[in-house]
Amino acid sequence: MNIRSKLPNTGTTIFTIMSQMAKDQGAINLSQGFPGFDADSVLLDLVAKYIKLGHNQYAPMSGIESLRKNLAIKTEKCYGFLPDYQEEVTIVSGATEALFAAISTVIRPGDEALILEPAYDSYEPAIILNGGIPIHISLNEADFSVNWDRIKSAVSFKTKLIVVNSPHNPTGYVWTAEDLKILADLIRDRNIFVVSDEVYEHITFDGRAHLSLLGNEELRKKTFVCGSFGKTFHVTGWKVGYCIAPKELTKEFRKIHQFLTFSTVTPIQFALAEYLENPDHYQSIQEFYEKKRNLFLEGLKQTKLKFSTTQGSFFQMASYGHLSKISDQKLAELMCKKLKVACIPVSSFYHNGTDNQFIRFCFAKEERELEEAMNRLLRLEEIL
Ligand code: PMP
Ligand code: GLN
Repeated sequence: MNIRSKLPNTGTTIFTIMSQMAKDQGAINLSQGFPGFDADSVLLDLVAKYIKLGHNQYAPMSGIESLRKNLAIKTEKCYGFLPDYQEEVTIVSGATEALFAAISTVIRPGDEALILEPAYDSYEPAIILNGGIPIHISLNEADFSVNWDRIKSAVSFKTKLIVVNSPHNPTGYVWTAEDLKILADLIRDRNIFVVSDEVYEHITFDGRAHLSLLGNEELRKKTFVCGSFGKTFHVTGWKVGYCIAPKELTKEFRKIHQFLTFSTVTPIQFALAEYLENPDHYQSIQEFYEKKRNLFLEGLKQTKLKFSTTQGSFFQMASYGHLSKISDQKLAELMCKKLKVACIPVSSFYHNGTDNQFIRFCFAKEERELEEAMNRLLRLEEIL
């Protein structure tokens, strides 16, 4: 048998590797991004209720009507825009599916797609599998804000797509109104689409608002906004997400979704639809995570690591270049094996493994776990 890989440079993801290492080592797992606590029991009970009510067969291809409707209402509450739930909202199996289907909708062989690095790992393979060419552009080194000059000089007649992500994984950077304005100026009069990964939409800090591209009248005409109920409601294992895009784009998007998964887990859609009826359920997330972030930072301050306070997402990056020259991969391994705290080396968010000596922590964990992890990190110098 002779199989020619379509993704020759892709291996097991760093999230799987580090979570496995954490398990093998009995380490506190602050690596892969998932909550270390359960969801609201109200939501869990709703799922049980809908399973028992017999909602256990295929859902409609685009998602059940009440979930699309309630998501559209939430979108209006949060971003001042009411999408048409019949023609612009699709429920899919996680933001990963939304991203893959959205990228597949617009990318053809030879098209260029801009990705801002460090970048989440699922954008590039989706571009490559569609014959596209990923063009990597680094964020500003100092604060991980968007370097618009670099983006402008990378845009060509071949550019078909720009993938953006705010709040940003792994840096926590949150887009400003100025970022949205520059993006709108840049793609005006150009045939460039946007895939906007907004899975951390409800996790922003210090009074910052998440500025969805859906809130911008011009941008939303060319944008696929991808979201995840897994992130918002602490249920990453449910893999239920969504894509909101204009009618013409949604029509094409659904053709692909139809043959990727066809439809998404039915009883959970019913549960989410009912749960969304109470806005507190998503409006309380910000405060919930800000407390965790603050507690985590209190601990991090006591260590020798350096950091700039994260603006959003449930991630905090930290740098150690002033302490040691070892690679971030090596540090992550040593920390896991010797200190029993797992993190993610940020070089894995760069296509060429750029190592600026940063590691990423996920602070979506119980308080005592965060405190214990930070205690262990007080001994960081012993392993360097
Ligand atoms: N985008 C980003 C930036 C993420 O961090 C994640 C989390 N895994 C996803 C997309 C995928 O979300 P989901 O689990 O809903 O597929
Ligand atoms: N989004 C999660 C993270 O960044 C990982 C999800 C996954 O394992 N694919 O850690």
